[in-house]
Amino acid sequence: MLTDPAALLRSVFGFEAFRGVQAQVVERVLAGQPTLAIMPTGAGKSLCYQLPAVALPGCCVVVSPLIALMHDQLRSANALGIRAASLTSVDADWRETQDRLVAGDLDLLYVAPERASGDGFRALLDRARIALFAIDEAHCVSEWGHDFRPDYRLLRPLLDAFPDVPRLALTATADAHTRADILTQLGIPAEGLVISGFDRPNIRYVMQPRDGLKGQLREILAANPGPGIVYAPTRAATEQLAEALGQSGRSTRAYHAGLAPEVRARNQAAFLASEEMVMAATVAFGMGIDKPDVRFVVHAGLPKSIESYYQESGRAGRDGDPATAILLWGAEDFARARQRIGEVEPARQAGERTRIMALGALVETAGCRRAVLLRHFGEDPPPFCGNCDNCLAPPASIDATLTAQKLLSAVHRTGQSFGLGHIEAVLTGKSNDKIIQRGHDRLSVFGIVEGEEVALLKPVARALQVHDALTTTEHGGLALGPAARPYLKGEERVELVLPPAKARRSKRDNSA
Ligand code: ADP
Ligand code: ZN
Repeated sequence: MLTDPAALLRSVFGFEAFRGVQAQVVERVLAGQPTLAIMPTGAGKSLCYQLPAVALPGCCVVVSPLIALMHDQLRSANALGIRAASLTSVDADWRETQDRLVAGDLDLLYVAPERASGDGFRALLDRARIALFAIDEAHCVSEWGHDFRPDYRLLRPLLDAFPDVPRLALTATADAHTRADILTQLGIPAEGLVISGFDRPNIRYVMQPRDGLKGQLREILAANPGPGIVYAPTRAATEQLAEALGQSGRSTRAYHAGLAPEVRARNQAAFLASEEMVMAATVAFGMGIDKPDVRFVVHAGLPKSIESYYQESGRAGRDGDPATAILLWGAEDFARARQRIGEVEPARQAGERTRIMALGALVETAGCRRAVLLRHFGEDPPPFCGNCDNCLAPPASIDATLTAQKLLSAVHRTGQSFGLGHIEAVLTGKSNDKIIQRGHDRLSVFGIVEGEEVALLKPVARALQVHDALTTTEHGGLALGPAARPYLKGEERVELVLPPAKARRSKRDNSA
């Protein structure tokens, strides 16, 4: 006989009530209905299969893409008294685990997708009683998703080989396209889709161009007490930031996959225990880490996609108390992301391009950040949230199309090989040696930018780079990008969002 789910929730997990869509998902699973649960990070996905795993006779097989993640979950499940084990390349107790599975002595079995899709595994499951297939991080099955794993595609035959075993796919990250793809790939009917609201109202979103990163970070640390994570794009950058920020008196550590396992474990444990530590980390850090009181998450570089941003920033404020997510982006991040498009398979390039454009719209908007995020996930949010930088201090947006045209002309007329410093010098009419030698003081664009318009050059260059109208050559010079023409012809406009104070000053000037 089935134990009452609410009773199990209390006795096994120690929770008073289900949260959000958990009840709905658990109910479907216990009724044997195939389900795709889309729940934001922190919404409590694990419980959606762990509770049925305890309630139902037989073992729940959990497919999960990361060994580290699996082992974290395994530890917490075992701590709750759930009989859980894993079959991965780093587990030594395969024999014992297989015996336990066949003997009906396991509630949960974690496996990697490449294991799960093998023939040997199917034969093993044939000898056991299986209660449920849970496919975690299910967006990995979609080529459209941001994290495609080919092995996920091989799961379908396994699922279909056990038609009576219900399947539950879970992910935090899915736009409408990826969502539809997951349903098809895993054979789940559309009525099996359960979507939880994506809003994290206690997270304040703040986005700014990078402008002296270390100084910006020091200010952020001073304004935000409590534990925080600073995501950096490279391993080397995490160590440099940890070192630089440590000097400002805050305890700081680094975390990335290149550190020795014992160093990583030590740093992670220190962070979990600390009430003020800042972790400078690559995005691998935080996945599967249960620290509810992270007060801020800073991205020192552009995330891979809005989905990744939502997931990574969502590691802040899981306890529901106020938290801040800050994104510091640079035009060069967009340039690099575009370069990488050329490196992925042709079939996936359109998706990559869409992802970069969506990120561009998010960092450039003068409107509510939360509204942009939630609309991305298919919700219909109110236009103002009152808890993002733009809602709290509405920026003025100004039309900087003319300045953009001047800048593109200057890049063109100087031969598309000089950096922004030289272009600025030409446009503002500086007669330095380099300019005189090259004869750039005789160009029609020499000295055509003056007064407060000068301050617009950098943000305009940034905006043009985001939109691929301006690119960087391999020698660091600026060149016209594929999207430059419509700007030069005035068909495409440049709307610049400036912080409130600056905008007021420049507005008069640019409209003159
Ligand atoms: P996700 O995988 O969706 O990011 P987790 O499964 O890691 O989320 O759960 C996030 C946190 O919420 C964990 O600390 C978990 O113990 C807690 N949690 C899950 N369900 C509940 C609940 N019904 N009531 C209170 N806390 C819960
Ligand atoms: Zn807002």
